[in-house]
Amino acid sequence: QLLSTLARERFEELVAVTDEESGLRAFIAIHDTSAGPAIGGVRRFDYTSESAALDDCLRLARAMTAKCILADLPAGGGKAVILDGPDVETERAYRLFGRRVEQLGGTYYTGPDVGTGPRETAWMASETRFAADPGPAGPGLLSQATAAGTFAGMGVALEQIDGETDWSRRTVVVQGLGQVGFELARRLRECDVRVLGSDLDPEHAARAERELGVEIVECGSEFRIECDVFSPNAMGGVLHDLNLRKLAARCVVGAANNPLASLEHGDRLHADGVLFVPDFVVNSGALVRGTLFHLEGRREPLEQIEARIATATRAIIERSDAEDLPPARVAEREVSDRLALRRAARSVTDPLRAR
Ligand code: NAD
Repeated sequence: QLLSTLARERFEELVAVTDEESGLRAFIAIHDTSAGPAIGGVRRFDYTSESAALDDCLRLARAMTAKCILADLPAGGGKAVILDGPDVETERAYRLFGRRVEQLGGTYYTGPDVGTGPRETAWMASETRFAADPGPAGPGLLSQATAAGTFAGMGVALEQIDGETDWSRRTVVVQGLGQVGFELARRLRECDVRVLGSDLDPEHAARAERELGVEIVECGSEFRIECDVFSPNAMGGVLHDLNLRKLAARCVVGAANNPLASLEHGDRLHADGVLFVPDFVVNSGALVRGTLFHLEGRREPLEQIEARIATATRAIIERSDAEDLPPARVAEREVSDRLALRRAARSVTDPLRAR
């Protein structure tokens, strides 16, 4: 059944990594390398089961392909998950994981995600050439690039809903004040936006309150708050039946991967007049930075990343308006069409690959 799912979704490779000593259990999913290496960070999370971890890994890898395509990058989607738990010896596990990435010989290039910050990325980077080094020799702070892109996409979405460009009149609810959410909140506060935020980790919430003046709200209450933007920056799947019923925002723009429980939930937001900007349109800042650094050795300036993502966001929203289709449907169609072209182009040079 697993192999047929992989084949149906056109995944290229799935690697399982285990090590008894360190407690490492991980998956690496490579979705597409038709235009270049598969790029995507490592998520470390205490999954309820191996199949939940695998499912997350596959969905995230597919989303990375979508991001690469919409950001016009010569790369494709990959992702890894490490199953966290009390028996995992973190440093050793990340180092071993880095070694396994090295063995893949550059097919997969890795970096940060939930549960994998600069410390963990540094451990991996000391074992492989194919991990974004968080130090001065690397591409720079990737979560800042993600926050910059998400902020730019949010600006475009807000202008689109009522033409108002004065940020200080806005209220934004940020769910998740971790690496990306904190940076995003910082940018918003610098523009005098009223920011309400939540985090399961009391230390992260307290830091955002203390350093940025974010008004902390209880986890789970974010959806009911009347605001211009609800910005998911924690885990995926938060836009499900129950939360959609409560949602009091005018638009949804955030960096969290796969926030829609399903595409139908995006349809529902569209029908309710809530502008949902797909995650994979706005959250590719780290990917752009990391990919261009890895492939071309240069650090794309944050302003360029913002401009790139603003343009992509505007294009999707305009097409959605013109066709009265939900933005997520428009973006998905664009990704499928362009992925088919990429794969067709590769099949010319690599006839063993099926069209
Ligand atoms: P992170 O682990 O640094 O931060 C996530 C934060 O969310 C943590 O502080 C955690 O305590 C909090 N959280 C978890 N569940 C929550 C809940 N139910 N309610 C409120 N807070 C909750 O991760 P990150 O790197 O900031 O990534 C955030 C999201 O953005 C993830 O979905 C990630 O896949 C996505 N993303 C991150 C990057 C990046 O550059 N780091 C790039 C693209 C996408």
